[in-house]
Amino acid sequence: MRIDVLTVLPGLFDCFLREGVIGRAVKSGKVNVNVVNIRDYALDKHRVVDDVPYGGGPGMVLKPEPIFRAYDELTKEGEKPLVILTEPWGEVFNQDMALELSKKGRLMIICGRYEGVDERVKSIVDREVSIGDYVLTGGELPAMVIMDAVIRLIPGVLGNRESLSADSFMDRGLLGYPNYTRPSEFRGMRVPDVLLSGHHRRIELWRKEQSLKRTLDRKPELIDKLMREGKLSKEEIE
Ligand code: SAM
Repeated sequence: MRIDVLTVLPGLFDCFLREGVIGRAVKSGKVNVNVVNIRDYALDKHRVVDDVPYGGGPGMVLKPEPIFRAYDELTKEGEKPLVILTEPWGEVFNQDMALELSKKGRLMIICGRYEGVDERVKSIVDREVSIGDYVLTGGELPAMVIMDAVIRLIPGVLGNRESLSADSFMDRGLLGYPNYTRPSEFRGMRVPDVLLSGHHRRIELWRKEQSLKRTLDRKPELIDKLMREGKLSKEEIE
């Protein structure tokens, strides 16, 4: 997969693309992330990328020309990317969207800043995506959130494919089960006996029951959705 990120603050991505699972995915070539400084496509020698809003009002707006020039240059060849613009009012990002995006060959993420981008930029955008109902200073953190969730789903990025299916919202659509590691007793809190039993079938059943309990407790709306979709039966809940 190739991801082009258009930003006025490319340095923000340095650590993210160097460390951990994402750093390894980049190093091994499972994903090719191309962070592009929008300023490199400005029209003037001062590399200005923002201007005052027509009609007055506070703040600055990201000008259309540098973004269009970057887009034209980057899409001259190869597969056309699915273009995402980060916006607080966009579709709220979730695991289903991450799965869908992880199957694309190429993405482009445009990071807004200041008061946002000139509205005409939307003509090259396929999806406006939000990471939640709050306002950040720019689209770089949302872009990293989207990339993190998407890149870890690319086949071969996580060593153990099973760890994905045990994740919340994944295969069964339920929340994850509780995890424990050594020591088996810590400050009077014991690891549930079943996990120490070595009995795989019982462990599997316990985990499923815990996932169901957690989902009923924290996100009951998911249970309704799974039942409607026929992925979960009444008997399984009882
Ligand atoms: N004027 C905008 C408004 O009316 O909500 C807020 C602009 S915000 C300060 C600057 C940029 O940060 C936005 O254009 C967007 O790209 C990004 N941004 C802020 N919050 C976001 C969120 N929750 N999800 C996705 N992007 C966000």
